[in-house]
Amino acid sequence: MLKRSKEETIFLMLGALSIFSIFPFGVVRLLQGNWALAAVDLTIVLVIVGVMIFVWMTQKIRIASILATIFYSAGMLASVYVKGHALVYWVYPTMIAAFFMLNASEALLINTTSLVLLVVTLFDRMSLLDLSSVVITLILINLFSYIFSYRTNLQHLELNHQAELDFLTGVGNRRAFNRKMTELFRPHNARIDACLFVLDLDHFKYVNDQFGHAVGDQVLVRFCELMRSRIRAIDSMFRFGGEEFVIVAMRTDHESAKNLAEELRALVEGTIFIPNYQVTVSIGVAKRCEAESGDAWFQRADAMLYEAKQAGRNQIIMAH
Ligand code: GH3
Ligand code: MG
Ligand code: MG
Repeated sequence: MLKRSKEETIFLMLGALSIFSIFPFGVVRLLQGNWALAAVDLTIVLVIVGVMIFVWMTQKIRIASILATIFYSAGMLASVYVKGHALVYWVYPTMIAAFFMLNASEALLINTTSLVLLVVTLFDRMSLLDLSSVVITLILINLFSYIFSYRTNLQHLELNHQAELDFLTGVGNRRAFNRKMTELFRPHNARIDACLFVLDLDHFKYVNDQFGHAVGDQVLVRFCELMRSRIRAIDSMFRFGGEEFVIVAMRTDHESAKNLAEELRALVEGTIFIPNYQVTVSIGVAKRCEAESGDAWFQRADAMLYEAKQAGRNQIIMAH
């Protein structure tokens, strides 16, 4: 069974809600013989049903949202044009709905266009004072919705960012690593030279047992600071789990990767993390091969890490 995204569910619910609120009016107007308005209402309902089926089948929520918002706005303007200012109340929920469907700037753009057309439609059918009230309240509604939507988006981005950081060390967590890999395997990035480093601190269990968990934590924090101070801005570091980390080095060939790995290893060896104790790291490195999956690539680097451990630790091994 296909799992539907949150956006899709909201879209389908809004669609259903608008059908239930518009359809009865269409029927009443049909019974009253008010053909023009009945036609507008029932056309809106039919198109909404069509767009909902489109979303249900294709999951193309973005196109559907833009089309639906433009269509709702046009429908609303058509109703006001046919029936006059008595239907102006419908403009309010329609404009607010735009902010649910689209991002803040898109919604504002469509609503501003609708507002101008609304003023043109109603200009000689309402007193200037009444029209001014409508315009000012609509501007306020848009302003508040814009601020609310913009702030919610910022919070959403901030939460997403936080959810991808490792709490202890501040490097990206496994979720961030997965996203990075997905990004790296998009068609336009698939040919970029990239190297994967899998780093694992040596005998870390011993560090914890000997010096305590808090000292172990501090070693992890300082280790990450040290690695990040050396890698470039286009490279990224992630905590894969426990005391195992991954570095993705971009636009890096086999030779540069080897030099970098050796430098990182030596940096750890040359740093005093704990007085009178030598902390070391083992590193497995693999350059991405053409047509290789992310998993296979990671497995090759991880296998080299295993070999480095077997070979006595505090060393780097490159995959061929
Ligand atoms: P090896 O050289 O083979 O990698 O040996 P190791 O002791 O480093 O490896 P092992 O997998 O046996 O132990 C990893 C240890 O890392 C065990 C666990 O207590 C410790 N560890 C994992 N996460 C954390 C953490 O967040 N903080 C601290 N202080 N220790 C951690
Ligand atoms: Mg270890
Ligand atoms: Mg480990």
